[in-house]
Amino acid sequence: MPDLAERLADVDARIATAMRASGRAPGEVTRIVVTKFHPARLVADLHALGVRDVGENRQQELTAKRGDLGHLDGLRWHFIGQAQTNKARAVRASADVVHSVDRPRIADALSAADPDGDPLDVLVQVNLTDDPGRGGVRPADLEPLAVHIADRCAGLRMRGVMAVAPLDEEPAAAFARLAEASVALRSVAPAATWISAGMTGDFVEAISAGATHLRIGSAITGPRPDRG
Ligand SMILES: *Cc1c(COP(=O)(O)O)cnc(C)c1O
Repeated sequence: MPDLAERLADVDARIATAMRASGRAPGEVTRIVVTKFHPARLVADLHALGVRDVGENRQQELTAKRGDLGHLDGLRWHFIGQAQTNKARAVRASADVVHSVDRPRIADALSAADPDGDPLDVLVQVNLTDDPGRGGVRPADLEPLAVHIADRCAGLRMRGVMAVAPLDEEPAAAFARLAEASVALRSVAPAATWISAGMTGDFVEAISAGATHLRIGSAITGPRPDRG
């Protein structure tokens, strides 16, 4: 655990420096540690170090880890992977926040999965690439999707936008488009102010562009085991 503690402290120091450089208050950002492919044990170690927000991208893994670690106080589970409609109920049962809503069908399924519970916090994932095969709604389709969620999905609380920067572009340019998407979303849902952006390689640029939620994996956890 000494290495883990050291990497966590190092990343947090880099986040604090970037926040200061952007003239932002430290409390304006939430650092989510992405623990995908790592054992539940690592999440428990992170919890002991004070981490409360963790991210997973596969439903089965999320469900299993949450089941194993249900005794840990105050952990919030962020689902950041492609959401499949037939897994919506399982995602809803284990996630506190879903970052990857990108089409009406998945919004409807997540909303309907627990009609009597508290609304689920969701972000609309925006595709910043030209490749329709990547996750996320095209920027042009963002507002209609937001209107659909606002009008038809009473079980969801729209919180903001999420994106992954394309590999073949400067992250700052991509995140500037995400900031525009955030403005567009807020024209439909003024309270949806979250911007989930920034990974190991680009979280400083994401902070400059206004990110409120960073999803950082390997810089904190170390290299991921093979996904098998
Ligand atoms: C894996 C993953 C991350 C974290 O990636 P690192 O480069 O390890 O920080 C962030 N966001 C999403 C959507 C991911 O799948």
